[in-house]
Amino acid sequence: MNRNLSDLETTIRNRICRICSDRTAEGDCGREDPSSCALFRLFPQVVLAIQSVDSNDIRDYIHAIRGGVCAICHEQSGGSCETRDQVRCSLDAYLIPVVEAIEEATGRTFDTGVLPALSPVHLRA
Ligand code: SF4
Ligand code: SF4
Repeated sequence: MNRNLSDLETTIRNRICRICSDRTAEGDCGREDPSSCALFRLFPQVVLAIQSVDSNDIRDYIHAIRGGVCAICHEQSGGSCETRDQVRCSLDAYLIPVVEAIEEATGRTFDTGVLPALSPVHLRA
């Protein structure tokens, strides 16, 4: 399936914002500054990072996100991220559904059946 980035972002917003704890009852982003959401602020880089991986091991995706997204995110400083530590990064908190949604939307399948047991905060060291 060949979708452009805008279509893909719409698809991912429909999937991830629906389960995000920051979503309001009306279905909007409840953050004071919705554009601060790293998942969509850096969406092209997120897609590139995920598409660079072909693995059923979530750690490979974590590595790609750290290198391709966190490395250029202004929230990260010296390799650490307070937003991540405070579980306020939606990309971090919902990494598995983000990977699933992007891979499904782009015609690949991420096999969650072989995922290792991980805490909900996937990108922590
Ligand atoms: S924080 Fe991000 S993922 Fe959550 S509702 Fe807002 S835009 Fe969607
Ligand atoms: S974990 Fe931190 S550095 Fe990485 S994308 Fe999220 S906010 Fe940015």
